[in-house]
Amino acid sequence: MNSVDLGIPTVRPQHASPSSLLRGDRGFPEAAREELGDRTLRENLRAATSTLQSKRASAVREVRDWQKLRAAGSALKWHVTDHLPDLLEQLEASVTAAGGVVHWARDAEEAGEIVTRLALERGAQEVLKVKSMATQEIGLNEVLARAGIRAIESDLAELVLQLAADTPSHHLGSAIHRNRSEIREIFLAAMPDLEGSITDEPAELAAAARRFLRERFLDLPGSVAISGANFAVADSGTLVVVESEGNGRMCLTLPRTLISVVGIEKIVPSFQDLEVFLQLLPRSSSGERMTPYTTLFTGVHEGDGPEEFHLVLLDNGRSAVLEDPEGRSALHCIQCSACLNVCPVYNRTGGHAYGSTYPGPIGAILSPQMTGMHGSDDPNSTLPYASSLCGACYDVCPVKINIPEVLVHLRAEDVDRRRRTRGDFHSSWDLALQGASRLMSSPRAYDLAVRSAGPLSSVLPGKNIGTLPGVLPLMPGWTDHRDLPKPGASFRTWWDQHEKDRAAAGPAADGGTAEDAPPGRPDTGDEESS
Ligand code: SF4
Repeated sequence: MNSVDLGIPTVRPQHASPSSLLRGDRGFPEAAREELGDRTLRENLRAATSTLQSKRASAVREVRDWQKLRAAGSALKWHVTDHLPDLLEQLEASVTAAGGVVHWARDAEEAGEIVTRLALERGAQEVLKVKSMATQEIGLNEVLARAGIRAIESDLAELVLQLAADTPSHHLGSAIHRNRSEIREIFLAAMPDLEGSITDEPAELAAAARRFLRERFLDLPGSVAISGANFAVADSGTLVVVESEGNGRMCLTLPRTLISVVGIEKIVPSFQDLEVFLQLLPRSSSGERMTPYTTLFTGVHEGDGPEEFHLVLLDNGRSAVLEDPEGRSALHCIQCSACLNVCPVYNRTGGHAYGSTYPGPIGAILSPQMTGMHGSDDPNSTLPYASSLCGACYDVCPVKINIPEVLVHLRAEDVDRRRRTRGDFHSSWDLALQGASRLMSSPRAYDLAVRSAGPLSSVLPGKNIGTLPGVLPLMPGWTDHRDLPKPGASFRTWWDQHEKDRAAAGPAADGGTAEDAPPGRPDTGDEESS
């Protein structure tokens, strides 16, 4: 395993600090079971994710060289992963040259302390926030609250969640699990001046949120705003924030002090590389050709925008992810959420079941790597299993992260670790797989097993074996929701018979006919010739 020097003095790659919002209090199966019982949640998710899926599909279809764009995005991300220490130093130099101040935060605690200190020094009692997953990950609002500073979310969905004391469940639509009538109720409860006659029409709800936020924008003691960034350009020191509502741009331009908390993986080498990512991200995310607001800001400029700019570069477990050559591609994520929308698991359970700021397929590989997997009692050890491995996430990912491959890698790591700590055999799965391994390693044993499967199952009625009896300890639940077809003749049995028939028919029959096809293989008549 490679050791990665991030250029941070005395720092060895380490996992995210325990206070990070990257781990739930129970494993995925238990949390998912509860979420699946919520019918409203499932309906909200189905409506929202199917709309996002079809918008993305239309937006992607318009681009003739979409696959080339994906390949370019992937290649750029691999370049960043391979040169991260150098690029980070370049970014620090560029931001400093442009009048900004760069801070390095090893973990959530350090990042929280830096931001809190900066806000207190400027006398801020309230700070405006731009939607940011990095600040969500480090629990910044809670950290600020403990220091007596109130964070006000300016993004509509984040505002809904803040007013409802709820947490995000999706990268793009943080409140995707809430529907319009729920949002109306939340607003009525939290906004005392709101007329009771307000309906759940989106325009009315947006207008109510706008009125509520405008008062905060106009009356901001200390005038500090906190953002994240979608990209940080190493060669110019430019930060990029893409958003749909415009409130983010107000936060980035109106306050006197701007503090941006940015994960170290958000770096792109040059300004020109944005050409690739600013095409990939909006189409994959909201299904738009271009995000309505794309704000680029570089350092400070007299009389234009914030007077002070602070960039907090956040590690918090990212260097630990980078250390694993097979798992590090998780850091390539541009948080478009396309993989969440197509995932059959996320679509039914929603994001809260993952227990982390990063839900869905990407969360299932990112969160356990950032925190480490610490045994069967660790909720994040269950995340790599929260997938059917159907591969839909890989197909839609704009930067070609092979999520199923990393999931399998993490499952293997989890199994190996449990073997090391609990002995060779600890579950019926281990016994079953050991048995299968022995069977498949012996041609004679395997032949005997497959030849006897057909005759043995023929005593059962019908085409399928049906539900396997619960007395079979190795197959718990396997057939509860699946049909297990009865095995037919094995290939070897068929081949033996075929050879006998051919020998009996003589040389004229050597050409073969459709009836010769092996069992279970339909003769479609349209096979490609080789
Ligand atoms: S893993 Fe890929 S598809 Fe999923 S959110 Fe990240 S960039 Fe988008």
